[in-house]
Parts: sequence; structure tokens; C-alpha cells
Amino acid sequence: LTERIQNAIHSLQRKGKITENDVKESMREIRLALLEADVNYGVVKDFIKTVRERAVGAEVLESLTPAQQIVKIVNEELVKVMGEKTVPLNKSAKIPTVIMMVGLQGAGKTTTAGKLALKLKNEQKARPLMIAADVYRPAAVDQLKILGEQIDVPVFEMGTDVDPVEIVRQGMAKAQEQKNDYVLIDTAGRLQIDEKLMDELAQIKELTHPDEILLTVDAMTGQNAVEVAKGFNDQLDVTGVVLTKLDGDTRGGAALSIRAVTGKPIKFIGQGEKLTDLDVFYPDRMASRILGMGDMLTLIEKAQQDYDEQKAVELQEKMKANSFDFNDFLEQLAQVQKMGPMEDLIKMIPGMANNPALKNVQVDPRDIERTKAIVYSMTPEERENPDILNPSRRRRISAGCGVKIQDVNRMIKQFKQMRDMMGKVSNGDFSGMEGLFGN
Ligand code: GDP
Ligand code: MG
Repeated sequence: LTERIQNAIHSLQRKGKITENDVKESMREIRLALLEADVNYGVVKDFIKTVRERAVGAEVLESLTPAQQIVKIVNEELVKVMGEKTVPLNKSAKIPTVIMMVGLQGAGKTTTAGKLALKLKNEQKARPLMIAADVYRPAAVDQLKILGEQIDVPVFEMGTDVDPVEIVRQGMAKAQEQKNDYVLIDTAGRLQIDEKLMDELAQIKELTHPDEILLTVDAMTGQNAVEVAKGFNDQLDVTGVVLTKLDGDTRGGAALSIRAVTGKPIKFIGQGEKLTDLDVFYPDRMASRILGMGDMLTLIEKAQQDYDEQKAVELQEKMKANSFDFNDFLEQLAQVQKMGPMEDLIKMIPGMANNPALKNVQVDPRDIERTKAIVYSMTPEERENPDILNPSRRRRISAGCGVKIQDVNRMIKQFKQMRDMMGKVSNGDFSGMEGLFGN
């Protein structure tokens, strides 16, 4: 999807002026791209119509930078289709707030229940209780119990021989008794929507009057995800959607259609199997992601979570003065390691998401460890003055850390390149950036 839209937009960027025909041409591309990404036909039709109407107007034709205008319009309309604003989780005036997870088998209900419980715990110091109401798959109860142990959240369960509605009834009583502020109900799924399941879910809904019925949908299932969402929503009137498995190959398609077809907001997105891989859904970020601009805001936010700002400021000063040394470098490596897998970070940089050279980029954590080992074998003087690292010092370092001399040399060379680059960038010069990631 991203690639096609980028192509469509690139072809516009090459032209100084835009004609009605250009708009037509690019709209055709964008339309195909959306359809290919399994965006619902009706949604595509409306989308294209709106964009075209806005684009063919004076706005674009008279503009000095037509390509920018089109990107802007497409972006704005994407955001609109996905719901403009972030919709927060509903919260009950009196405890507990009841969140019921529903969705097909394998969509990610159980995992998301765990992720959400962890998020609530971390962000609101909440004391959630999770109820294991999937009694059809033998391992389902255990799966939730294991998740609960990992995040230190209690799980109410009665095995698999009890009626799920009864389990929920007793679980709710338990939550009342223990004054839990959130209850997350993990329900069963099926491979397809069927009446028996819907009946059971309706009974649980009736019993608990959930503040939130979160429909969990697997983004990888494309068009099917939309039908499923419609089916669940028609029967249960869900309150929100969690789009899972948006890591890896992004399928923006589902995000686009689901909101349009169900009218229900996407509240969270799952971006990995780890319990911390649950993010609030931002329509504007998703739109830029679809447009291939990279998810800059998320990247910055992710960095900020772990990055001590004070240090960042100091670092920047040093970069400007070109006095960045190996001590700063060690510090920075530690910060980067805290931020999570390097591949994820790189993919969020604008223009990097679709760089074929980075498609299968793998950063081996051992490389970082080896780099650190090299620095550890330097004397304090050497760390502060990288330029004094002559061949004999390098040989000593190589022997000290057990890394081949060629590798030591390469690391030092790369360090110097990076230092120069940072000096440039912090002084506002971005030339030479292309070479930063290998090639
Ligand atoms: P349920 O049947 O709906 O309860 O689904 P599960 O929670 O058991 O999830 C099914 C599989 O999908 C598990 O292997 C999860 O680890 C995986 N999964 C869930 N959410 C995500 C996600 O956001 N990204 C990835 N990569 N995997 C996920
Ligand atoms: Mg499950």
C-alpha cells in the first residue's frame, strides 16, 4: 500500500505543475493501492471521491507545490476516515470498570488482555483482575494464568468445566470483594462467527454491563477483518477496536475500513508479541505511516520514554563542539539498547520504512555488546581522546577484548564517521545522511 501511494505521489513530485489529468492518474493509483490493501470497496470509493473533489479544485491547480498539496489532502482524508481523534478507554464512575475482550480465535484477545492490564497497572497504578472465561480451548486458561503471573495481575479462573457465564458471575463477585478497579474478561473465540458464541457473549454482556467491549481484530487478515468487525458489532454493539499484529508488514487497510464500516473507534494497536507492545491508536500517525512518511512521532516518543533529557542536551552540545568521545558513545549505546530492538527504531524513520536495503535489516545485539567490549578495553585517556588511537594502542585493545584487530579498526572508523556526521547534523547540515545505515 505504502509503496503504491508513494509511487503515485512521487510521480507528482516530478512535475512542476499539476493538471486535472495528473490528479486523475494519481487517484487511480491510490485507488488501486487501497483496494490492494483490502480496504473495503465502498470506503475506497468515498475516499477517492472526496480527495478528488478537493484536489481538482483551485487549491491544487493554483498551488506552487501541487505534490505537497495532494499529500496533505490524502493525509487529511486518511485521518478523517480513521476517526480524527484518539478515543480513550471508557472508565466507569464506580469501580470496577469492566472491559470485555471479544474476537475470533487467534485474533489476540488473551494477549491484549494481558497487555492492557499491564498498561493500566503502569499508567494508572490500577489493580486489575482478569477473568478466564474461555473454556473451549484447554490451554486458554493456562495462557491467561501465565500472562497474569508475568505481569503480577491476579486471574480468576474455574477451569474449563464450568459455564463461562457462571465463571464471569463469580469473577465479578470476587472483584467486588477485592475492590479491583478494572476487570478484564477474556472470552472465547471461534474460527468464524457463530450463533452459540454470540449467544454466550451476549449473556456475559447482559450480566456485566461492560463499560468497554473491545473487539480484537487481526490486522493481517485484511478484508476479512472488516467483515468480522461488522459481524461482531452488529450483534454486540462493541465500544472499540484493538487492531493487533500491526508489526511487520503493515496492513493499513484494516485500520482504514474498520472505522468507516463499523463507526467504532480503534483504541489500541498491537505491534508485537511482547506485553509492552500495545500502543494507543493515533489516526494521524497511522495516516503518515500509510503514506510512508514514517512514524516520526512514535519514534520520538519512544526515545523520550527512556532518554534522559538532560543527557540529550549535554550530548547535543558535545556534538556541536565535535567533542563527542567514547564515554558519550557508551552512554548512547546504553540508551539505544533501552529503546528496544534497533530494527523497529530504524523502520520508524521517514523514508526508511520502504528502503529495500533495510527490508530485512537485523541488528544483532551481540554486535552492540562487542562494540562495548572494545570501548571497555580502552584507557580513560583513549576514551576521551579517540584521535590518539594509533596502531599499537589498537593492537593492545584488540588483545584486551579478544576482538579481531580488523574489527577494532572498523569500529573506530565508524565511530569517527558517526562523530563527524553528528557534528554536521547538529549544525544543521544533513548531507551525507544516506550513508549512515550501511550500504
Ligand atoms: P486469542 O485467541 O484471541 O486469545 O489470541 P491470543 O492472544 O492467544 O493470540 C494469538 C497469537 O497472536 C499469539 O501467538 C500471540 O502472541 C499473537 N499476537 C497477539 N497480538 C499480537 C501482536 O500485536 N503482534 C504479534 N506479532 N503477535 C500478536
Ligand atoms: Mg484467548
